Amino acid sequence: MNINQEFETIAAISTPLGTGGVGVIRISGDKSFDIALKISNRKDLPAGKICHGWILDGETKVDEVVILPFKNPNSYTGEDVVEIQCHGGVNVVRNILDVVLRNGARMAERGEFTKRAFLNKKLDLSQAEAVDDLIHAKTSNFAIQSAKNLSGVLATKINEIKAEIFETTSRIVAGIDFPEDVAEPEYSYLIERFTKSLDEINKILACAKSSDILRQGVKVAIVGRPNVGKSSLFNALLNLDRAIVTDIAGTTRDIIKENLDLGVAVTLIDTAGIREDENIDKVEEIGIEYSKQSAQEADLNLFLYDANVGITDEDKEIYNIIKIKTHIVVANKIDLLTTEFKEEIQNTARLSVYTKDGLDDLKEKMKSIVCQFSLEETEFITNKRQQSCLLRCKESLERALQAAEMEELQDMIYIDLKSALLSLDEITGEVITDDILNNIFDHFCIGK
Ligand code: GDP
Repeated sequence: MNINQEFETIAAISTPLGTGGVGVIRISGDKSFDIALKISNRKDLPAGKICHGWILDGETKVDEVVILPFKNPNSYTGEDVVEIQCHGGVNVVRNILDVVLRNGARMAERGEFTKRAFLNKKLDLSQAEAVDDLIHAKTSNFAIQSAKNLSGVLATKINEIKAEIFETTSRIVAGIDFPEDVAEPEYSYLIERFTKSLDEINKILACAKSSDILRQGVKVAIVGRPNVGKSSLFNALLNLDRAIVTDIAGTTRDIIKENLDLGVAVTLIDTAGIREDENIDKVEEIGIEYSKQSAQEADLNLFLYDANVGITDEDKEIYNIIKIKTHIVVANKIDLLTTEFKEEIQNTARLSVYTKDGLDDLKEKMKSIVCQFSLEETEFITNKRQQSCLLRCKESLERALQAAEMEELQDMIYIDLKSALLSLDEITGEVITDDILNNIFDHFCIGK
């Protein structure tokens, strides 16, 4: 969709397709009210009022509904919007959408409602991105952080920094344009202002790593020889029967991933048994290679060995791969021990996945390590696009600062300040191309 495209009336199902209490069909655009009146038994739809009625397909009653009419600009998209709340069944919502589409609306594209909200200035771009974050948040913590950006926390901060840079830029321009009347600002003043703006930008960028972790989650890999209980532990941590568990060595041939909420989002990875063995077949060889890779990529490795067998040469080899990374050593199957446990590696966690003995302790240990990855106060949540804009702004400001320190011509400094401002405009969406915009909204779901 093009920014300048004339807006047609769009419609989509805004609730997940499934069986539930309520389903919502959203219509946005000039024809929303006409369509809703045409397909219902309502004589009028007063804006801002809750309207009860029936959706009709000709003579056929489709469903008894509640209709919520919003008159522009007081709606999510800023256009005329009608939301139809019907009974939450897959076919009911589909039937209603079908009637709406046959009566003058077209199917909405991904994120088109939010895109219209942005284009109608109901949200800035950072808020629109927060909508997507909020919907897709993997943890309750990230959902709360995203809601902060939806309320405009990032946008407000960016606008504050922009206002500061703008003020300095105006003084420089006044000095350049009216040299007789207005004195150029002092270099010491410029240095002070640029340093302040840089500090503010750095403060937001300092939260980049923890906001990435909040968004994407911490990768935790379970590694170890075949048959030590990796898949069993994977299931136990997730409370599910996802991975296949057998007592034949090497059954976990693929890498399996699942999300786990430990306050911070965790992607739990069950690797194929890492084993350097001449007799293994090709599939397992590939599996081993994958495992080594994922052990390298993981933020935290759980290295599992069989307490009853003790640490073998194979175990040592695997341990050597992961020991330089953040890891927890776990001695599993302690229920099978006939003698007292002998700690071969310091700080080994003892576990029996079978009896669940030690499972809660292990979870706590994981939690404390995983939380350290996002310990810094995450005041500002940013995504990669916003971080790249901030980095560009920072580079421009650093050039301006350097120029001010060397007392260069203020015309030159002005150019850097202008590009710093442009980079910030991109974050909130004042300056944006169709490509960037489509790229952002293509990730949304239909109906949002
Ligand atoms: P993987 O190859 O490392 O993924 O190991 P699995 O999870 O497939 O487990 C191998 C075998 O060990 C299965 O028969 C499990 O039931 C068994 N097992 C796993 N954990 C324990 C445990 O704590 N105690 C006992 N007794 N058996 C376990």
